[in-house]
Amino acid sequence: MTHQDLLSVVREYESPLYVYDASKIEAQYKRLSTAFKGVKQLRIHYAVKALSNITVLKFLNKLGAGLDTVSIQEVRLGLEAGVAPQHIIYTPNGVSLEEIEKAAQLGVQINIDNLSILEQFGTRYPDTPVCIRINPHVMAGGNTNISVGHIDSKFGISIHQLPHIERIVKNTKMNINGIHMHTGSDILDIDVFLYASEILFETAKHFDNLEFIDFGSGFKVPYKAGDIETNVEELGKKLSKRFNEFCKEYGKELTLAFEPGKFLVSEAGTFLAQVNVVKQTTSTVFAQIDSGFNHFIRPMLYGSQHEIENISNPKGRERFYSVVGYICETDTFANNRRISEIREGDILAFSNAGAYCFTMASNYNSRYRPAEVLWYEGKGHLIRKRETFDDIIKNQVVIDL
Ligand SMILES: *Cc1c(COP(=O)(O)O)cnc(C)c1O
Repeated sequence: MTHQDLLSVVREYESPLYVYDASKIEAQYKRLSTAFKGVKQLRIHYAVKALSNITVLKFLNKLGAGLDTVSIQEVRLGLEAGVAPQHIIYTPNGVSLEEIEKAAQLGVQINIDNLSILEQFGTRYPDTPVCIRINPHVMAGGNTNISVGHIDSKFGISIHQLPHIERIVKNTKMNINGIHMHTGSDILDIDVFLYASEILFETAKHFDNLEFIDFGSGFKVPYKAGDIETNVEELGKKLSKRFNEFCKEYGKELTLAFEPGKFLVSEAGTFLAQVNVVKQTTSTVFAQIDSGFNHFIRPMLYGSQHEIENISNPKGRERFYSVVGYICETDTFANNRRISEIREGDILAFSNAGAYCFTMASNYNSRYRPAEVLWYEGKGHLIRKRETFDDIIKNQVVIDL
């Protein structure tokens, strides 16, 4: 999208605004599927929590993606988007047995990540196919060394508990059709990821009825110049080869599954906000925008560095700014950032705002959450309206005092 495109949508739908470029989502989807073209059966389940707008889900499904969901509500969003239940995997952590039962009734693939629920679910529904989330205890520890991931992570069933898993499966006669891992750490070193994959293959041999192996996510995208990104082409080549070998060993053509969120939508998103005030202090120049961490929390929560461009004055002389918000709390988007000269009323564009941005927005300070626009086939389409005062008060119950 050009600056003019961005300025035209913000003129029409006002700020603050999230804009997603459908062609970038498509390019990322194709990049990943092309990297794994050597595998006969590939499934990409888009992680809904990254960006859960129904139109975005629909678009990814049209491209061929299924969904990875972490709550019954995300499952329902996927069904609203028209995604077939068999293309939705439900990977919750620490939810009740009741919620898992509800998801199973909706016909989605269940993924269980603790022994207690595995035993209870297997006892009640031995015929429902279940995937098991394994914690391989492998994390990238620097450039070349492999370190054992922290054993007390709340995610997955420890690989060391494999004998206990096997005992439950044997006793309940439940049907395990998939093995899964998602360590949550970025894939910076492909060899570390391949090492974790070997643990998954080793685990897979303990189950006779598998249909798929799910390698989770961890695809890293660049946020700023010089950032390392996952070399998906190299990973695709190496893991596909190894996966095909494993299928031969296993004696069956399995499906290789991934569940990327950030990789598919992060770079497609731009957050647009207007500068309300330019304020000089004794130590810096603040550019204060009509937003805050209520709309865009990643810089404050994770210290993530999003590129900021002044699209109203891209050729202006560069100066150093502290870009902050308007909520009554410290909400810094960037410090000492070189940005072309900012005037009050200018529109700033924040990059990499597709993943974990809108989905983490709140009504703090009783502000409305932003609108969302999908740039599709050369035009901006409103896919979520800005909230109104009604949204702020609709669930409040005012009692007589
Ligand atoms: C969040 C999540 C993902 C997606 O992670 P990204 O870093 O956005 O790719 C995948 N799988 C599970 C189980 C998750 O919880």
